[in-house]
Amino acid sequence: MMDVTIIGGGPAGLMAAIAAAEQGAKTMLIDKGNKLGKKLAISGGGRCNVTNRLPADEVIKHIPGNGRFLYSAFSIFDNYDIIDFFEGLGVALKEEDHGRMFPVSNKANDVVNALLQRLDELHVTVKKNTVVKAIDYRERTHQIILDNQDNIESKAVVIAAGGKAVPHTGSTGDAYPWAKKAGHTITELYPTEVPIVSNEDFIRSKKLQGTALRDIALSVFDEKGKKVITHQMDMLFTHFGISGPAVLRCSQYIVKLLMKGLKHVEVQIDAIPDKPVHELFSELSTMIDQHSKKTFKNVAKGLVPERYLDFLLERNGISTTIKCANISREKLEGFINDLKGFPFQVHESLPLKKAFVTGGGVSIKEIVPSTMQSKLMHGLYFCGEVLDIHGYTGGYNITSAMVTGRVAGMHAAWETLS
Ligand SMILES: Cc1cc2nc3c(=O)[nH]c(=O)nc-3n(C[C@H](O)[C@H](O)[C@H](O)COP(=O)(O)OP(=O)(O)OC[C@H]3O[C@@H](n4cnc5c(N)ncnc54)[C@H](O)[C@@H]3O)c2cc1C
Repeated sequence: MMDVTIIGGGPAGLMAAIAAAEQGAKTMLIDKGNKLGKKLAISGGGRCNVTNRLPADEVIKHIPGNGRFLYSAFSIFDNYDIIDFFEGLGVALKEEDHGRMFPVSNKANDVVNALLQRLDELHVTVKKNTVVKAIDYRERTHQIILDNQDNIESKAVVIAAGGKAVPHTGSTGDAYPWAKKAGHTITELYPTEVPIVSNEDFIRSKKLQGTALRDIALSVFDEKGKKVITHQMDMLFTHFGISGPAVLRCSQYIVKLLMKGLKHVEVQIDAIPDKPVHELFSELSTMIDQHSKKTFKNVAKGLVPERYLDFLLERNGISTTIKCANISREKLEGFINDLKGFPFQVHESLPLKKAFVTGGGVSIKEIVPSTMQSKLMHGLYFCGEVLDIHGYTGGYNITSAMVTGRVAGMHAAWETLS
């Protein structure tokens, strides 16, 4: 009989197993994969953006999917504790832009290996290549039913089986039925942090494919033309639509509008967000006056990448050879308006299996925020992406997984040992 059994060896489950074993619980970790931490090992482009150094309040703000639920858990174990934890395991971390923390080695496997070594030191029983089929909830203990017909009896069960994004890593949504069986609500699942698809002509003709825009502001508008969200970061035009950090951050708002039944969602790119229209107009007008014999394209060069410039010029009927002296005020205004807010329609996202993160999941209303325990079933805990919690890219999802994992493992151990 186990004290605590954790299902799922991602960042949430690994941290839960370590926390439970550190409290002295007889702990088992089960994963269906041949390796633990598969998604962790490919995270952050193989470098693992393990957490973020921003103040805890800021970190929570960057978890728009129910981040506030994490306040209690953060008071027990937060992003700075994650940093200390890894430094304590000998994994030196470094800070990059926007507070993002990576291993100094740039190797996600160093993060995974440190966690595995700690499991080993703590004598956690690890069962790999072991698929959990169901959980039989009993009055005092629970039976974990494996697909090879074996059962594991455990006083407490921690479900850390992840969401449905990138299923080849093992996250195939297996845990939702187990949660439902315990009486839990699963809120609607949807892709978040996901590239966006558009069937606009300029996308279909691949005119801008491969063009990256740096530090632009991307805005999303609802059906009434009201701005829903703006994110200022980089973005990229692809063969199917748009991607890159600003797009990933805006994606959940687009997906939610589409889930409401909208056929299209309008987005706008402000390519020069730090300059208001009037300033841009007066700067360009002065340059036009000073360089009347130069082409307008030459004068506007440098404002944005050349392919995007050519695209906006063409959209406004401005030939690339037209001289400054011959450009009309109307065309100049149209061009500047596009620079500051090029509007176009998007109509879907890539599917959940291609998203970075799963939106929706086990409803947090049915989970005790300070322990991650189910309010509906004794001895049952949840942590990580299986919960209805999702953050922006930037280390926030792994942070949420590790914080909830730590708290779940610790409290599961206390419950069984008390
Ligand atoms: C390509 C990519 C890059 C990312 N980069 C970052 C990043 O740099 N920073 C960041 O914060 N977030 C990143 N994320 C998101 C982050 O990796 C996830 O949110 C996080 O891994 C979720 O952790 P988890 O432990 O809840 O679940 P997972 O990591 O999904 O782990 C779940 C585990 O459960 C196991 N499992 C599932 N079903 C069963 C079953 N029936 N029986 C036994 N075991 C089972 C799986 O095999 C898997 O090992 C990235 C995501 C992707 C896809």
